[in-house]
Amino acid sequence: MTVQKPIDAFILSLLAGIFILIGAAFHIIVGETLGWFFIPRFFIIGRSLFLFGLTGLICGILVLIGAFIIISKPANTKVGGIIVIAFSILSIFGAIGGFIIGMILGIIGGVLAIYWKPGIIYEVDTEIEEERRRFCPYCGRSIIFDAKACPYCGKRIET
Ligand SMILES: [Zn+2]
Repeated sequence: MTVQKPIDAFILSLLAGIFILIGAAFHIIVGETLGWFFIPRFFIIGRSLFLFGLTGLICGILVLIGAFIIISKPANTKVGGIIVIAFSILSIFGAIGGFIIGMILGIIGGVLAIYWKPGIIYEVDTEIEEERRRFCPYCGRSIIFDAKACPYCGKRIET
């Protein structure tokens, strides 16, 4: 018996989180660069970008947490999906939505998680139960357990 897991939703959400983190890092790096090298003209812009980047970073981390909530337990999948969607959308402010790609992946992953239903696969036992057999006490060949006589040597067999 195997319990299915929302793998698609998990992978999309995971990718969304990674893209959002990259977007946030981009914000922070650009913010830092502007802030420290082009002072004073761009200082405020740089600081804002830096702070936005931190917000984006938190969004990315929360999307990743959402992804792991999705995969943790079937009962938690919906909650994880909602978290992933919410912070994927919010990441537009601090991580350009993970260059938009992260946001789109997060929304798709989250929606998949919300509509996912756990299914249980029962592995079909293909092995047919083997006929009960025993060895002929006279010739030693394998014969059907209930056989009255050995088909090989023809001796009668007591049961
Ligand atoms: Zn026999």
